[in-house]
Amino acid sequence: MCGFVGMVSNGPVAATLLVALQSIQHRGQDAAGLGTRVGPRFHLVKGMGLVSQAVPTHAVEGWDGTAGIAHVRYPTAGAISTSEDAQPFLTRRPGILLAHNGNVTNVPELRQDLASAGLHVLSHCDAEPIMLVLAQELTALRPARHTAADLVKAVRAVFHRVRGAYSVVALLEVDGQETLVCFRDPHGIRPGVYGQGGDGAWMAASESVALDVAGLRLVGDIPPGQLLLLRAGQPALLLPVVPAQPRRCVFERIYFARPDSVMVDGRVNRTRWRMGRELAREWAAKGLQADLVVAVPDTSRPAAMAMAEELGLKNREGFIKNRYSGRTFIMPDAASRTAALRLKLNPISEIFEGQRVILVDDSIVRGATMGRIVEMLRQLKPKAIHVAIFAPPVRHPCFYGIDMPTADELAAAAWPADQVEARLCAMLGADSLSYLSVQAMRRVVGAPLCDACFTGDYVVPVSAEERAAILAERRA
Ligand code: SF4
Repeated sequence: MCGFVGMVSNGPVAATLLVALQSIQHRGQDAAGLGTRVGPRFHLVKGMGLVSQAVPTHAVEGWDGTAGIAHVRYPTAGAISTSEDAQPFLTRRPGILLAHNGNVTNVPELRQDLASAGLHVLSHCDAEPIMLVLAQELTALRPARHTAADLVKAVRAVFHRVRGAYSVVALLEVDGQETLVCFRDPHGIRPGVYGQGGDGAWMAASESVALDVAGLRLVGDIPPGQLLLLRAGQPALLLPVVPAQPRRCVFERIYFARPDSVMVDGRVNRTRWRMGRELAREWAAKGLQADLVVAVPDTSRPAAMAMAEELGLKNREGFIKNRYSGRTFIMPDAASRTAALRLKLNPISEIFEGQRVILVDDSIVRGATMGRIVEMLRQLKPKAIHVAIFAPPVRHPCFYGIDMPTADELAAAAWPADQVEARLCAMLGADSLSYLSVQAMRRVVGAPLCDACFTGDYVVPVSAEERAAILAERRA
């Protein structure tokens, strides 16, 4: 998972890009980068860590480029991550600065194809092969001075050659003008929106919150399968490339995106709320009883509030989250893992003592964290702990840009679907475990979805060799 922001304006963009990038820091904390274009030259800085570490304010001071791209990275494959894998990527021929969010499933094939044409992929990041394919297709048409028609042909070739999920922003000269080029794969699996400023500026970003903080008005989604060309002070140019079959990632709505972001199906906060309401109805139909609802912060709050409202129960904050504890590192034993969890998430004892609690969370992946939460809460002597997940069980790996473990590490993949709740509940030590049904999730989101991590219905076919290569890298 990653996040991007691209901007064209009549004035310098680096400072605005930097602020907008910080608003999507949740999409990647491993590395970050920012580049701008000044005539035929580019400025580029990238490094490891948070935005404030990788792109310090002083590094971009005085940059005068009126178009630029910024990116935060969270690697979804490969144990190796260096600042060279950070985005954006830059190619000299024909002069493209590019960043993306997603996962390309046929990287080995692309590497070979490109190498046979004398183009070598140097990084472990799949943005680089996308950029090289785009560059190769463009320069095959003409060496420079590319037109919008050239770009349509080149992006059509990218859609044909590059498999997987990708939302792309690129900066290059098109029709003799500085142009922000945006496209998403024909299924639009990964998110991408664009918006306009009052001063003729345009911005494209992974999430609409980036536009909010930069003071731009959301126009809509970058349409899947199309080419969007943005130039300062000019109307947006939308060009059809291939027919779209949208299947947007439902996990963005459940877990990844910020609740204040707006996607094509509405504000993420509202979607989580509606999932919580559906879950409450399914939960009540089981004949269970409880006294109050507590969210595992932060993602689950809207769903917990909706559950409480629907069931006529109290909704209480039961945990204090430490915002400064950083990542939970792999700890050598159970005691230190519990200490690490308490450092991150400390329960307020009087909320739980003597109560029948519904504990709401977004997902159970490996099951270890939820197991430790239940174990920690047991010490507070609640009457009952009912775990309620406002999504279906995660039973399949994601090959489209979300970092998930392999199937053998997924807790809910260990049993047949109809046994998951009972068996996993026993493993967690909870009094009950309830998941939202796939039907209810689909009803809430409405639009056609990618829900492969819940159903195994993969939108873009991933061959056995491709799966093996991706999972081997992930295991490494
Ligand atoms: S498999 Fe799951 S996480 Fe991956 S894109 Fe589809 S819905 Fe999103």
